[in-house]
Order: sequence, then structure tokens, then C-alpha cells
Amino acid sequence: MSEKPPAVPRSVGGLTLLLLLGALAVGIADMLLGLDKDAPWFALPVFAAIGSASGYFIIQYRYRGEVNASDLFEAVLLPVIWLYPPVAVVAFALVAQAVAEGLRRNESVKARFNVASMSAAAAAGSVVASLVRDGSPVRDVIALALGMGTVSVVNQTAFLAVISLVQRRSLRTVARELGPAVIPVWTMTWLGNVCLGTLFLAAYSATPATLPLFVVPLALLYAAGRGYTTEQTNRARLEGLQRATHALGEPVDPREALGRFLNEVRQSFEAEVVDLVTCEEGGWVRYRVAGGAPGRTQFGPVEPPSLAVAASQLERADRITPASTDVTLGRLLRAEGWRDCVAAPVRIKDETVGVLCAYNRGGLEGFEEGELAVMEALAAEAASAMQRSDLVEAILEERRKLSDIVESTSDGIFTLGADGSIRTWNTAMANITGYEAASMLHAQRIGLLRPRDESTNDVLLERWVDSGTALPARVQVRTRQGASRWLDCSYTTSDGEERLLVVVARDITQMHEVDRLKADFVSIVSHELRTPIAPIKGFASTLLQAEADQLDEATRRMALESILRQSQRLESLIMNLLEVSKIERGTKASDVVPVDVVAGCRRVIEELRPAWPKRTIELEADDSVVAIGRELWIDQIVTNLLSNALKYAPEGVPVVLRVQTGADAVRVSVIDRGPGIPEHERSRIFERFERLHQHDMQAGTGLGLYISRHLAEAMGGTLSVESTVGQGSTFTLALRTTKRPRLVAVS
Ligand code: ADP
Repeated sequence: MSEKPPAVPRSVGGLTLLLLLGALAVGIADMLLGLDKDAPWFALPVFAAIGSASGYFIIQYRYRGEVNASDLFEAVLLPVIWLYPPVAVVAFALVAQAVAEGLRRNESVKARFNVASMSAAAAAGSVVASLVRDGSPVRDVIALALGMGTVSVVNQTAFLAVISLVQRRSLRTVARELGPAVIPVWTMTWLGNVCLGTLFLAAYSATPATLPLFVVPLALLYAAGRGYTTEQTNRARLEGLQRATHALGEPVDPREALGRFLNEVRQSFEAEVVDLVTCEEGGWVRYRVAGGAPGRTQFGPVEPPSLAVAASQLERADRITPASTDVTLGRLLRAEGWRDCVAAPVRIKDETVGVLCAYNRGGLEGFEEGELAVMEALAAEAASAMQRSDLVEAILEERRKLSDIVESTSDGIFTLGADGSIRTWNTAMANITGYEAASMLHAQRIGLLRPRDESTNDVLLERWVDSGTALPARVQVRTRQGASRWLDCSYTTSDGEERLLVVVARDITQMHEVDRLKADFVSIVSHELRTPIAPIKGFASTLLQAEADQLDEATRRMALESILRQSQRLESLIMNLLEVSKIERGTKASDVVPVDVVAGCRRVIEELRPAWPKRTIELEADDSVVAIGRELWIDQIVTNLLSNALKYAPEGVPVVLRVQTGADAVRVSVIDRGPGIPEHERSRIFERFERLHQHDMQAGTGLGLYISRHLAEAMGGTLSVESTVGQGSTFTLALRTTKRPRLVAVS
């Protein structure tokens, strides 16, 4: 029967009353028929005493919270039915059961039901037996067996009826579900009781003095049965403990298996609900399993006080019942509506971190100590699981931090396995190379980067295990987009579970470029500066050494002119270099003004003509075209473009200088019919020191176009090139016009 007061329906009281009235009716009816004076009335109290004892020695088991008991009461009932009329049987059952219930301290609703049920069963059994018996030995034995059968049937039917009332389910459903589990137990109990009762009767018939001796076999049987159930219970609990421990051991983070763990605890204790209440995150957290899927609920400071939190203060595992010696726990148990609870504090070292509680246990009732020991072991498992979980959490946190650092650093970091496959690839590495981690990981793809050293030899990073020589610090790689990048790499090997090569790669493309430019600059500048110095020195020493009159006027003039030309070249080179350094500091065109471009062009042509006396320069332009810019810069750009055209185009062909006015720009184009510039070189020639190889024969620094483009852009214009290889090139300087939208007078 349910011990939760609110769960007991009134109909249970009705059934109890009905059974009691039935028993009393039989007793009264029998009494009215007249009492049998020959019955051994003196022995009835002895029977009642033994009956009470046998009713006390019970083995209980639960089904869905309902307690059923097997006891040896019916063994004592048998001789009583045989020796006494129904009225005495009813009185015996009422008194002996009531005393037994009192001894067992059963809760009142249940005790009343048990007394009524047993009295009714005894009355029915007694009536059946007295109707069947007729004095012949065979008939009497049948009468006894039938009588005892009736007792059992009435008793068990009343039990099923009360379960169906409490659970509000049909009698048939309850019988169908319970039948397979309990019918064997009932049958065995019935058979045992009939046999024992018959022996009891035989002994009594021989001499009534043997009656008290029966207490001993009853006690022994009780002890044996109790031992058996204890064994069974503890085995079930221990198996549950093993399964629960196993569940916790499976995942890396045991907290993930808490649901399964609690479910195993629930099953092994056949409990309705199991809670693990832990003190974490500054409050109490409850993990609960109640038959279905495990749920997780959180609750804050203890208000109202909870049984679990109060039970966490227990010294050891304990069983809490409504009648617990600890009044607070008993009160909380009742307040939360539980029938009983086994609670074990969860401790890490000496600190209590929670409590494991199993509520409303079912199944066979085992040896209390064993059960508590199992619960304590489970709580210890939960404690070590929580400890492991905290450790895993700490490790994961560390890993998260480390991975955050690796992912947020601007340095590329990757690791290669011994087989050359990529094991890790951070975000910076993806940014530098354009290859995402997803496409690189777990594959031998490092070759996609075509790593090379500074002497353009392939660097076989994937064969790092075999390569005896140290890997180069500076590695050039090709990005997914085809661009080239220079990486400054440092290498470490890690000899953990697997040998790994850890590579930290810093993108030093810009630095590398600067280094290269510096080297180029020094070699070009030293070469270019030395070139004009040689003839200057040569002619100067000729002039000094030779007698003045030994040199004719023409030769002297030629020497001086050459010295002048070379000094001008030197000057222009130095000017160019100064210009470059200015540009690189950032040129601004705050002082642009309207400039007559055509006048500038004429000036430049005139300046260039003496140096190129045999060349034709055609100017195609209106008289005057005004654009926005700086006169000096425009002259410098046009000079540069014209000198290039004269330098690189063959002698026989003219060079055209065309000035056009468009809607949005003034275009100054220098057109030659020279060798032209291949398409893939067109952007390169505007870079510092970049020259086409076939033009190395011509003197030049590779700075002219670089300077010109920057000057054009500083004036808000552009410098571009169009070219057809073998046919010529057109360099166009586009400048902003002075034109503004005109205001039209409207009359
Ligand atoms: P430099 O003329 O001193 O070499 P520039 O920057 O003026 O430097 O020109 C860069 C390169 O562009 C030249 O070396 C040459 O190879 C190429 N180039 C410039 N103008 C022309 C042209 N009109 N025709 C063919 N190639 C040219």
C-alpha cells in the first residue's frame, strides 16, 4: 500500500471496512449457531501468540510502491481452522494480525487493511473447511487444503484490489502485470504454509505441549528467508553499482554520463526517483532521473529547505523514513511527499560537495547495512566522477585558451605528422596562404604551397623526418591566388604520442621585398653612379695631362661637352633618387594649378632635341590645352616618356606627342613604334628598379616610370600604357581638366 497519505483513495477505507464486516458477519453468524464447548479454548491464546510472532516475521517486496509480504501466519492459521469454529478463527486472525502489525509499526491505513484482509480470508477459509470436512481422513485433508486455498485467494484478491484502487487501474490489468511475478511466490508460500500447518496440527494432536516449540522453526525459516532476500538484494545492488561505475567510466567527461549513472542507481535500488544534488556555481544543482529521460534542474540557495540538501549534512549513508530519528529529515521527507529515501553524502576529500538520494525504493527489502554500503560506494563514484569532470573541464579550458592564442595570433602556425600530413593549420596560416584549414587538414598538401628557399631550391617540408639538413628559415610559398609570399619559419619537433613538426611562420614578404630592393638599389646605384664617372675622370685627366696646345679646339670641346653630359646624367640620377625618397615619404599635390600642357610639351621637345638631333618628334595638339597639375611635374613626366620612346624605339621611326581634350580629362600620349611591351610586363615596369631584360643595353635606372606614375597620381591624374609587341607603345598621362559645368542663362 502506498504510504504517501494523499495518495490513498477513500475507496481503500471502504474496502477495508467491507472485508472487516464480512469477517465479523461470519463470526457473529457462527456464534449464533452455538459455540463448540469441546474446542481446546485454553490453547487459543498460545496460537494467537505464535500467530503474532509469525506475522511479525515477514519478507517484504514492493511492486510499484506497493508492499506485499510473505509470512508464515497461514501456517499457524491452519491448525486454528482445524481445531476451532469460524468465530474463534475470526477472533484469532483479528487479534494476532493486529498485534503483528503493531509490532511491525505499520502505518495505520495499511495495518487496518492487513488486519481486515486477513480476518476476512481466515473467516472464508474456516467456513469452506467446515463445510467440506465430514470426519473421513481423505475428506478432512481436502477440506483443509481447500480452506487454506480460500484464505490465500481471498487475501491475494484483496491485495490486488487495493493496488488497483490505489493506482486507479483496472483489477484485470494489475493482475495481468503482477501475476507472473507474484503467483510463484504465493503458490510456494501457500504450499509451505499448508505443509507446515499440517505438521503443526499433527504435533498438536499428539500432545498440545509441543505448540511453543513451533516458534523455533518459524524463526529459523524467517532467518533463512531473510538471508536469501538479503543475498538477492545485495547482488542486484552490487550489479547496479558495477553498471553505474561502468557508465561513468565511458565518456571522457563523466558529467556527460550522469544521466545513465543515475538511471543505473535508480534501477538497482528499484527507486522511483534518484537525485544527485551538488553544490556548484555558487548554488545547488540537481540532476534528477525519474524513470524517463534524465533532466537537469537548477535551484539556488536552499529555500524552502530541501531534504537532499539537509541530507548532505549526514555523516554517512542513511535511510530516511517518516519515523526517522532525525526529526528534520523525517519532516522534510513527508513535506516532499516521499515514502522513504536512502541518502549518501558525496564527499571530495573531507569536503561535502553534494548528496545522492534514492526515493521510494521498491523490490525485495535487503539487509540495511549492505544497501547503505552500496549507496556509499555509489556516492564515492559520483564524487570521483565530479572530480574527474572538473579536471577534464580544466584541461579543456586550458586547451581552449591555447587554441584561442594559436587562432588569434598573426603568425602562421601549423604542424606536420611524420608522414607529412598536415595536423593543424591555424587561421593566420589560412590568411597568409589562402588555403582554408578544412581543405588542408589530414592530407599531404603542404606541397601545394611549392615551398622554396632563397636559392629557389624546393623545400620538402613533407619529408621533414628524412631530411637530415636543417630546414631553411626563409621559405617562399605560392598562395592559392598565385601570389608569392616569404615566410620566416622556425621549427620545433614535439615527441609526444606522435612525432610532430611544429612550424611557426611569420609573413615577411614586405620585409623581404625591402631587403631585395635595398640590395638592388645598392648594386644599381653603384653601377649607375660609376658609369658616368669613368668618362668624366678619363676626359678630365686627358685635359690635365695633355699640353694645352697639343689638343685641338674640337677635341677639347668634345672632352668638355662629354664631361658636362655625364655630370648632367649624374645629376639627373641623383635628382631621381631624391625624387624617389620624397615619393616614398608621401607626395601631396596641395598646390596644383591650371597649367598649359601644350606649352610644356613644346618646351620639353626643345630641351630634348639637341640630345637626339636625328630623331623626329611630332606634336599633335591645339595651341593651348589647360589641365590641373604642377608644371614642373608635368614637364618631368613628359620628358621621361619622350626619352623612353626615343631610347627604346628604333631610329628611323618618328615619335608622336599627342595632346587631347576629353570630357573629363586632358590626355598627353607619347606614341612610338618601338618593340612594345609584353602584356605580363606592363604593370611591372611601373615598379621601382624594374626594367625589361632586353633593354639592359640602354642606360637607365628603372626609376623613371615609377616616379612618373607617382607624380601623375599626386596631381589627381593617371599614367597608363597600351602596347602591341613588335608594333609600339603608347604611354598616356591623363590629367584633370579645368572644365566646370557651365551655367546657362535662361531668359
Ligand atoms: P629606365 O628607362 O631608366 O630603364 P623606366 O622606369 O623609365 O626606367 O622604364 C622602365 C622599363 O620600361 C625600361 O627599362 C624599359 O624596359 C621599359 N620601357 C619604358 N618605356 C618603353 C617604351 N617606350 N618602349 C619599350 N619599353 C619601354
